[in-house]
Amino acid sequence: MAKKSIAVVNLDHCQPDRCNYECANYCPPNRTGKDCIVTRGDFYDSDDLFVGRPEQIRISEEICLGETCGICIKRCPFDAIEIINLPSELDESPIHRYGENTFVLYGLPAPKSGSVIGLLGPNGIGKTTSLKVLSGSIVPNLGDHSSPATFESAISNYKGTSLQNYLEKLQDGSINVAHKPQYVESIPHAFEGTTRNLLENVDERGELDNLIEELSLKPLLENDIKTLSGGELQRVAIAATLARDADFYFLDEITPYLDIKQRIAAANVIRNIAISENRSILVVEHDLAILDLIADSIHIAYGTAGGFGVVTDIKSTRSGINEYLSGFLKNENMRVRPQSITFDQRAPKINIETEPLLSYPLLEMTYETGFSLTVKPGIINQHEVLGVVGPNGIGKSTFANILAGEQNTDSFSLDSSVSISYKPQYLDSEESIRVDTYLANIASDFGTSYWNTEIALPLQLDKIMSQNLPDLSGGERQRVAIAACLSASADLYLLDEPSAHLDVEQRSQATRAIRRFAEHTGASVMVIDHDIYMLDLLVSRLLVFSGTPSEFGTASTPADMRTGMNEFLSNLGITFRRDERTQRPRVNKPGSQKDKEQIKSGEYYYLPAE
Ligand code: ADP
Ligand code: ADP
Ligand code: SF4
Repeated sequence: MAKKSIAVVNLDHCQPDRCNYECANYCPPNRTGKDCIVTRGDFYDSDDLFVGRPEQIRISEEICLGETCGICIKRCPFDAIEIINLPSELDESPIHRYGENTFVLYGLPAPKSGSVIGLLGPNGIGKTTSLKVLSGSIVPNLGDHSSPATFESAISNYKGTSLQNYLEKLQDGSINVAHKPQYVESIPHAFEGTTRNLLENVDERGELDNLIEELSLKPLLENDIKTLSGGELQRVAIAATLARDADFYFLDEITPYLDIKQRIAAANVIRNIAISENRSILVVEHDLAILDLIADSIHIAYGTAGGFGVVTDIKSTRSGINEYLSGFLKNENMRVRPQSITFDQRAPKINIETEPLLSYPLLEMTYETGFSLTVKPGIINQHEVLGVVGPNGIGKSTFANILAGEQNTDSFSLDSSVSISYKPQYLDSEESIRVDTYLANIASDFGTSYWNTEIALPLQLDKIMSQNLPDLSGGERQRVAIAACLSASADLYLLDEPSAHLDVEQRSQATRAIRRFAEHTGASVMVIDHDIYMLDLLVSRLLVFSGTPSEFGTASTPADMRTGMNEFLSNLGITFRRDERTQRPRVNKPGSQKDKEQIKSGEYYYLPAE
């Protein structure tokens, strides 16, 4: 019979020397004399590895009453326990479980030669675990961690499917795998040398020159890896992975820190390799416009982060993304989100009653390196979220620094009475400080009910409050950085790429938090981002940058969304249509009928207003 619920004990949190085993003392089965929650003692797992300390706890899933009880979760002072009811619709057996009371994975993506397969789902749901199984670094134990795992049993479990064939090849060693990790920011810590050194080390296919050309890496070849920006590191990491001679490529996010043109260039390179060389590529991606463009088909992963993850059967990219946005997976009969994420095919109306916060005249400046920036005069309104778009290296951050008073201009010094809170692209946090202490130092309303419900809740901070900043993952750091920016007392809030490393759910929650914050406090928020879906859901006006990266940039006057999107996308030569069912924006194929028509009519994004 399929398991009804699972118990997950986070051994990093379980601290029996600092509690009185409240979990076990209050557990109803324990109180009737059963051994539901017990100390681990000298418990060993199948690999003879000692798991946890003897005095830490283990929970019997056979005896546990499940989520409806959940007493131990509330009693544990350190948030070490999760009891999760598995969906009744889930009738398959697990593919892998790391050990007793740990994360459990159901299902696997099915790699396919000559195809790009997408994997869409939240963080912490088993995407990397799936990769480890598919690359052979984990032998799947089918959830039975009490005896050593074998490939034979996994192969027979997948008999008659394409995975059987794949796992057989994996077993006989005839498959090579290349992997691009999610956090490119850590590459400089692991590698010393120039871009050229790094790429030449992995040039196994003799295709390096093409990759360098298509990902515009030539100007970076002699640069030390340590000096590269996030967007540069991302492109180098993609090139380094694709330069390898592998049968199966796994790319864990390709878009963070890339501008839209670079995202599309990366998507094209990846598709070309899959199709022209019959390679098999699996891409995890949270930018849905790019996932839509790159993937032939997708799997969706759902579950509870850190508890269990289910990889669904393959779906067509269009209907998979639509289902995911709707929050309900049809074939699985599974609700993955209480509400749907919806888009509007018409540009948002501007609230004409908003008061200006800040008006700035023509701004001009030039760096010693030669880069020059011209910003046309404009107004930033109260209560608004203003989107900032344009290529990388065009002066967006420089403009933010001018507004923040950290960069002088040739022509003008801004009114210092406008205070600014700024979230940079990365939160550099080598300082060992707990998240709650860090945020309490910044937020005057830290812990108030407004702060708890409007900032901490949507940004899912509760589980990471007691962790140290340097120990956080990229997505966790991002959420803390957004909270920190919105928690400071200021008139204008500048958020530089808040979408980076957030999954779709987190993007949608962060969007909601930022919008409600602007509406509630009357603050002005400027968001620099490259995720079209996030911009579409978040902003009401646009500030468009154009020019030649690293040479000169021009910022236009902030405009309504329709005017702004038309200006921005015409600079790029990209048009979007709307999905008939969900109204979500989809990139048109260049040269297609729709693309030509829209370019002709000058409507790159929205339907004309009625
Ligand atoms: P994703 O790639 O979707 O973010 P992962 O596959 O990395 O998710 O992890 C899924 C869950 O498995 C996480 O909660 C993680 O803590 C847990 N996990 C990963 N590796 C191990 C391990 N070696 N032992 C126990 N749990 C693990
Ligand atoms: P964006 O935010 O659009 O990516 P930036 O404002 O960061 O662009 O940078 C624009 C250009 O100015 C880039 O070529 C960058 O290398 C250069 N630049 C940025 N900051 C400085 C600085 N402090 N000194 C000299 N050049 C800089
Ligand atoms: Fe015991 Fe399970 Fe209830 Fe926790 S949820 S107290 S383990 S019965």
